Amino acid sequence: MEHGVVKVVQAAEGVFKIELPMPYSMNHVNVYLVEGSPLTLIDTGPIMEGVEDALHGSLESRGYSADRLERIVVTHSHPDHMGLAARLKAASGAELVCHRLASDSMSDYQGSAIREREYLIGMAEMLGLPSELMEMNRALMDGWLDVAESAEADRMVEDGDTLESDRLQLQVIYTPGHSIDHIVLYDAESGLIFTGDHLLAGITPNPDVYLPWMSEKLSGLPDYLESLARLKQLQVRLALPGHGDWVTDVSGRIEEIFLHHEERKSYIVDTLRGREMTVLELALDMISFVAAELSPTNVFLAMREILGHMVILEDEQRVTREVRKGTWYYGAN
Ligand SMILES: [Zn+2]
Repeated sequence: MEHGVVKVVQAAEGVFKIELPMPYSMNHVNVYLVEGSPLTLIDTGPIMEGVEDALHGSLESRGYSADRLERIVVTHSHPDHMGLAARLKAASGAELVCHRLASDSMSDYQGSAIREREYLIGMAEMLGLPSELMEMNRALMDGWLDVAESAEADRMVEDGDTLESDRLQLQVIYTPGHSIDHIVLYDAESGLIFTGDHLLAGITPNPDVYLPWMSEKLSGLPDYLESLARLKQLQVRLALPGHGDWVTDVSGRIEEIFLHHEERKSYIVDTLRGREMTVLELALDMISFVAAELSPTNVFLAMREILGHMVILEDEQRVTREVRKGTWYYGAN
């Protein structure tokens, strides 16, 4: 059978980056094939037009059919990273590995996505979001319901575990923040690290809004920055992310991300001088400041990032927060 355009690039001996197309603003996702025993796939791609076909074609270009996979590791429970896991596992009998918290969400993907949607919609008033925009967010989140299937993990891993193979000894590092269930995989000997969405080349990963039944914390951003600081301690030669190019200067990239957040926080404090603003107003201001497109997706992502900044700024006592009729209003200290 002929498959679509295949983009497979060798990252190291026996390690291949497979770039899968996605019909999203983020137009692709990277998954990784680690040859040897067990034959391993790191992340899967979503259930979307052309993705499964491209994955099969890519595996075949390396001489494998998907039913030969022996291990599938999922870096986190976002659909572009785990959407095809159930199908691949059913076809191959591969062992499905992820963090304990990812396993909870993945075992009932639709149920978890709906619970998350309802929680986020319930935050509308607090964030200062009018009902029309809230409905746009609902439509946006509904778009994620059918791009993944629920999958049962066979092995749940925690920080410090090792996934042995004859090619790489992948140390599991728990890196919450972009999602609460995120792990990265590090092979000390080769200096390779599979970073999922924790570290990307050109994009600052969007912080999670933590769900109250998973964490007491509101935003994943403080965890994210801590997880990133931990990554800086490692001797990394090459970081292999879930989107975009790989990263050779990991320490430099981490410094850039830290700087990005410091600059954004300072900008917010300056913006708040002499006036009060809601999270939505701050998000809209940020979108126009960075000249991004005013799309529902960008408003959604900007609000998540602003919320993270506000949590940290409040903790640093650089902003004040007043609640009136359920809406949060921030001011500069
Ligand atoms: Zn993600």
